[in-house]
Amino acid sequence: MDIAFLGTGSGYPTPNRGASAIAFRYEGDVWLVDCGEGTQTQIMKFKVIKPGNISKIFITHLHGDHMFGLPGLLCTISMAFNPIDCDTDVCELAATPNTIEIFGPLGLRRFLREALNLSRSVLVFKYVVHELIPVQPQYRGSKHEDMDWNVWNPDHIAKGPPHPSEMENGRAIFQDKVTGQWPLCCTNHITATAGMLKHRIPSFGYVFSEAPKAGKLNSEKLIKFGVPKGPLFGKIKNGEQVTLSDGRRVNPSDFIGPTQPGRKIAILQDTCDSWSMQDACYRCDILIHEATNENSHEEKCVANGHSTPRMAAEFASAVQAQMLIQSHCSQRYKDPKQHAVSEGDATVETLTQEAQLKYDGPVVTAYDGLVMNVKRKIVDT
Ligand SMILES: [Zn+2]
Ligand SMILES: [Zn+2]
Repeated sequence: MDIAFLGTGSGYPTPNRGASAIAFRYEGDVWLVDCGEGTQTQIMKFKVIKPGNISKIFITHLHGDHMFGLPGLLCTISMAFNPIDCDTDVCELAATPNTIEIFGPLGLRRFLREALNLSRSVLVFKYVVHELIPVQPQYRGSKHEDMDWNVWNPDHIAKGPPHPSEMENGRAIFQDKVTGQWPLCCTNHITATAGMLKHRIPSFGYVFSEAPKAGKLNSEKLIKFGVPKGPLFGKIKNGEQVTLSDGRRVNPSDFIGPTQPGRKIAILQDTCDSWSMQDACYRCDILIHEATNENSHEEKCVANGHSTPRMAAEFASAVQAQMLIQSHCSQRYKDPKQHAVSEGDATVETLTQEAQLKYDGPVVTAYDGLVMNVKRKIVDT
């Protein structure tokens, strides 16, 4: 399981930081979270994922720095199918013959349908948009109730004929009243859910949870106990109680190691209050949380719907995350190892240090091209 940071900037892409895009790579499949403007060139630049392997795309919210790259990426993947139109970088994208499933807030279907229809874009694959229906959340002690989505509410419903490649089985996904989360999809190994974050418009955080893995069968111990190799091993592994020819009973739990917990990755982009996702993010292996501005800019940062390192770190501590990765950083923060910075200027190191004041675990401030490998925690007893 890898997480590749393709764009880690806020607001707009620059040569230093692309707009928001994070790829979650698992057993050959790629799921993309956000697709800001320029994501396709970031993919060509870093070559850490093959876009032909993208099977699902999750858009956190409808601000442009999180989705303006989506129609373009889909068109370029499709164009890669036709080598005549294609230079080497594009051909490496390799078109996918499979349907791409796209999840995002209500309005995403309309945006994509109109962008692709009006541009007469032809796609060689099908896509489907599943829309998450937002609710007006209750925030604790909030000072900022007049966010844009209360006062500026365009028509979000997709109109007119679908694009020829758009499948009509896109779902409307509602909040589960029991868990408070939006159940999205479930593969053999990964369950994806979403929760609502406070921002200027409806914004969703995504949580990817891997299924636990059954404990390992201790074959050596079984052989020593006198169990003959063969079908009995399979039965014991499946938890069946077995009686040997000499009458002794084999209790499976004595020969199977502990269940290995699955990994959990939480990706929380634009927000000035992520606490509604506290339960969903509990004990995640990696918490990716936005940290747009340094702590001293908190008042303005929160008024803009964003977080500081203090806010990200306090949330990481509260949910007992194993690691905090900060992303969606303002373009003003440079890495002093790569760029000249003036004496006294806040840098990416400032953001990391400020988070470390409130969180004991490891903190990384993400940069474009960063790939994190997430290992399964091994439980011995
Ligand atoms: Zn943003
Ligand atoms: Zn935003």
